[in-house]
Amino acid sequence: MAAFPEFAVFDELGPSKVVHLYDPGSGMKGVVVVDNVAAGPAIGGVRMAADVSTDEVARLARAMTLKNAAAGLPHGGGKAGIQADPKTADASRLVLAFARAIRDLAEYIPGPDMGTNERSMAIVRSETGRAVGLPRVLGGIPLDEIGATGFGLARSAEVAAEFAGIHLKGARLAVEGLGNVGRHAARFLAELGVILVAASDRGGAVSCSEGLDLDRLAETKRKAGTVAAFEGGRRLSQAELFLVDCDILIPAARPDCIRADNAGAIKARLVLQGANIPATPEAEAILHERGIVNVPDFIANAGGVICASVEYHGGTEADALRRIANQISRNTREVLQRARDERIEPRRAAVALATDRVREAMSYRMPC
Ligand code: NAD
Repeated sequence: MAAFPEFAVFDELGPSKVVHLYDPGSGMKGVVVVDNVAAGPAIGGVRMAADVSTDEVARLARAMTLKNAAAGLPHGGGKAGIQADPKTADASRLVLAFARAIRDLAEYIPGPDMGTNERSMAIVRSETGRAVGLPRVLGGIPLDEIGATGFGLARSAEVAAEFAGIHLKGARLAVEGLGNVGRHAARFLAELGVILVAASDRGGAVSCSEGLDLDRLAETKRKAGTVAAFEGGRRLSQAELFLVDCDILIPAARPDCIRADNAGAIKARLVLQGANIPATPEAEAILHERGIVNVPDFIANAGGVICASVEYHGGTEADALRRIANQISRNTREVLQRARDERIEPRRAAVALATDRVREAMSYRMPC
């Protein structure tokens, strides 16, 4: 297994700590990057993957700094990685060793990410006294069960639709990745009259201009393992989903799926980024030139981390949903208005908004 490469990219925001971990007993190799803690202890997920690198963890930690600052949370950004394949490794043992190794790293609050889950967070909490994304019985708010991120995407859509000149009632939606984020986003948008016309997952894609029945689609995915087996629609390739005739497109699976080679052919007038980094910078520039309203990931998909923060501070599910609705609506409006006024891409406006907040939080810290 590759060792973690040396890490040496520092800028005005961080990272404040890069800690490599190794436990010879269990074989656990890990890294924690605490990017910035000006607003409070850093919250961010623990990713378990065989190829996770220090560089990847550092980029994700910075993304959490921006996401948490934009969401107005009293938390900085951090992230952790454990180098192991969660399917074959003794995951609980590695998580336990990881938790013991970070016991004194009090400015980092772990949460679940790829390869870890509520059970992992219960282990971390029992060893360190801190973690988010806990099982309900331990005071957790099950964010994927309640659809916290999909709920936030629907709130973002309500505001962004005005900027895109779309009426949500009757608007047509395509979702890449009908998983936790995509399925709940489609469900909450259906409550506003939005019609799901195309959906994809790991096994393929399906479309129907008349609308796909979400419950039957979910049932097909549960039984057959993929939405592509759905009988009430036309089969598509995953790549064709991006080109479907629709008003709203939600990428909710893979990074970099909107690229320079397909951004010019997207028919949607509004792109809501459910996944993290679903579009390349070149693709975002093309969407902007074409007048397509594009709400960046860390603005639109912050519902999950807002829910985690409310959980950490002892709030209820209702508190979490209220906070998600208020913050994501406000941020979507602020970012899209600034982008329009200054004629800049929404991502530039979003980064400026988040960075201003981090800088302001940093201004209250005494210099060493
Ligand atoms: P998930 O595993 O529940 O769902 C992912 C879905 O994408 C699955 O249905 C899978 O079959 C599908 N998929 C995989 N490869 C695909 C491909 N090539 N084409 C089309 N579909 C494909 O994951 P999730 O929790 O819904 O997370 C999805 C994305 O959103 C990830 O990028 C995640 O980091 C990001 N995200 C999740 C949350 C959250 O609250 N869960 C919050 C913020 C961001």
